[in-house]
Amino acid sequence: MTPLRRSVMKALAETHVPLGAYEIVERLAAGGEPTPPMSVYRVLDFLVAEGLAHRIESRNAFLACGHPHDAEEVVVFLICERCGLTREVASHAVGRDLAWAARAVGFEPRQRVLEVAGTCASCREMAAAAPSGRAAGEADAG
Ligand SMILES: [Zn+2]
Ligand SMILES: [Zn+2]
Repeated sequence: MTPLRRSVMKALAETHVPLGAYEIVERLAAGGEPTPPMSVYRVLDFLVAEGLAHRIESRNAFLACGHPHDAEEVVVFLICERCGLTREVASHAVGRDLAWAARAVGFEPRQRVLEVAGTCASCREMAAAAPSGRAAGEADAG
């Protein structure tokens, strides 16, 4: 792996929030590695093709992937609408259902990726800890 590929992988692996190409360019520059955006795009294409990263279409951003996927499973991204945290889960059951439903209408899926928007565990905890109707920062005496 070239040093640039390694640097881009490291930037992606440091966070669970998908990064856009320009965010990666900024991170590399901040780390003393100024890199033209075109080079970063090429590296991202390579990483996605090799299965080392996923592209999150709805955000035009990229997420590191640390495990192989087989052709039977569907990758599901659970994307937090508040903080951007994205978890990846893979499902064979969803993959089988999808293959079955697609076959029924003569459709051949190319990209087997689903994106689900919602709220992550820590954002839900934060929301629960700060109930509406109470001023922010006010301590509970109880
Ligand atoms: Zn993956
Ligand atoms: Zn969140």
